[in-house]
Amino acid sequence: MSINQSGWRPTSPEANTGGVSASVTGNKALMLEEALIFEIGDAKTTGVDFGEGDVAHDMLGTLTRKAPIGLPGLSEPETVRHYTRLSRQNYGIDLGFFPLGSCTMKHNPRLNEKMARLPGFADVHPLQPVDTVQGALEVIHQLAHWLVTLTGMTSVAMSPKAGAHGELCGVLAIRAALEAKGEGHRKIILVPESAHGTNPATAAFAGYSVEDIPATAEGRVDTAALKARLGPDVAGVMITNPNTCGLFERDMREISDAVHAAGGYVYCDGANFNAIVGRVRPGDLGIDAMHINLHKTFSTPHGGGGPGSGPVVFSAALTPYAPLPFVEKQGDTFVLVEEETAGEHHAGSFGRMVAFHGQMGMFTRALTYILSHGADGLRQVSEDAVLNANYILRSLDDTLDAPFGPSGPCMHEALFSDSGLAAGFSTIDIAKGLIDEGFHPMTMYFPLVVHGAMLVEPTETESKAALDQFIAALRSVAERAKAGDPSLKTAPHFAPRARLDETLAARKPVLVWKEPAPLAEAAE
Ligand SMILES: *Cc1c(COP(=O)(O)O)cnc(C)c1O
Repeated sequence: MSINQSGWRPTSPEANTGGVSASVTGNKALMLEEALIFEIGDAKTTGVDFGEGDVAHDMLGTLTRKAPIGLPGLSEPETVRHYTRLSRQNYGIDLGFFPLGSCTMKHNPRLNEKMARLPGFADVHPLQPVDTVQGALEVIHQLAHWLVTLTGMTSVAMSPKAGAHGELCGVLAIRAALEAKGEGHRKIILVPESAHGTNPATAAFAGYSVEDIPATAEGRVDTAALKARLGPDVAGVMITNPNTCGLFERDMREISDAVHAAGGYVYCDGANFNAIVGRVRPGDLGIDAMHINLHKTFSTPHGGGGPGSGPVVFSAALTPYAPLPFVEKQGDTFVLVEEETAGEHHAGSFGRMVAFHGQMGMFTRALTYILSHGADGLRQVSEDAVLNANYILRSLDDTLDAPFGPSGPCMHEALFSDSGLAAGFSTIDIAKGLIDEGFHPMTMYFPLVVHGAMLVEPTETESKAALDQFIAALRSVAERAKAGDPSLKTAPHFAPRARLDETLAARKPVLVWKEPAPLAEAAE
């Protein structure tokens, strides 16, 4: 056993089970099994001791509940343990490395959390009079300023609630601009093969027909094919840059110029901004609209379905059509502009994306992140994110197939394929093996242009020791998959559950608990 340079010590792979295969309780050491609250609680138990109370005046009429509601009850300590045990079954960024490509699962600095919890930000209500929330409006205004500055664009809509929501915002602005020019008949949006799935979905949702543009052998948009397809029926293009193969689209300026010359607009999916923040300004590439995932690039927490925040930056051409509201500084006062007539910059606004003004908590965290890093710090973010991804790419390209490895360095994520695995083995087996090693799997089977894709995004916040440990784990699992190790087909062996039918769970989710039949009969 040796300690390598970075201090990470590989351990012996033999588990010390002493021949024991299962515990009586189903627990695995301190990984505790937990039943549903309906199975462990009952309607007679309660953790609180309320008096009967006087129900004053019931105005529900015939809608009044006739029978007890029947929710399961637990004592207070049982309740605390139930939810604490469940929370321990989550894997999170505060527990370990989260290599999901295209997700930018970076550390969420505690300073951000401290700022977001200040009562003046955390406790404001969206309907409060604006003279009582001047500080909150100033945060939105300042963050808007930095997002516009970092991207070299003209304006920003802060309210979209996630990346995909931002895409819809951008495409709706493009539609409004085209309609204003009497060009509403343009019904096609071109989307490269390597696009994130949300891009074609957004275009279709906004009423456009989507046409694919092929990728070149080196994983970039086929610029010639794209230019050849431009014409009077094309509303615009949606291009992810850096793209989902982890590569920078070098022809972006040329593509933008051609799209503009053909009367269309350029939407850029900016979810991967982490790779270029501080180094490339999308405005210089001729982009008309781009969403920024604050919950990726600017370190606001995400995962498990929320929350998100996807402000959209706009070029001068699209600014008049951007959604309301926006914050404007008039003298020393911050005002919330909520009517299109009020702002000369938003004269043709297509409307609103949300009822209120966006995700205040995420704004506060993102601004804290930007100000605490400064210009040099943000530039270093993208440099280190790209360095870490290339370290992973080059450390593993002797074991795993890296389809675009030969075309040069990657950006912020490393892409591998399942080529070279033993017959019958696929990416899913590698992912399950990684779980046994204590890692959340990487993004799998995406992007679609690569067979059995494995997309790994380390972000800048992982140490060399953490990367070395991950590389050693992935190398070992990949070698087992190449050698056809049958034990990998049934991994994970150390997790509470092994291989669930995830497709069935997604297609036919069981959302209602029913008392199991034998129990129900026994109770009668
Ligand atoms: C994450 C991501 C999106 C979607 O962002 P959400 O906030 O999840 O809606 C779109 N495009 C790319 C490239 C992404 O990585």
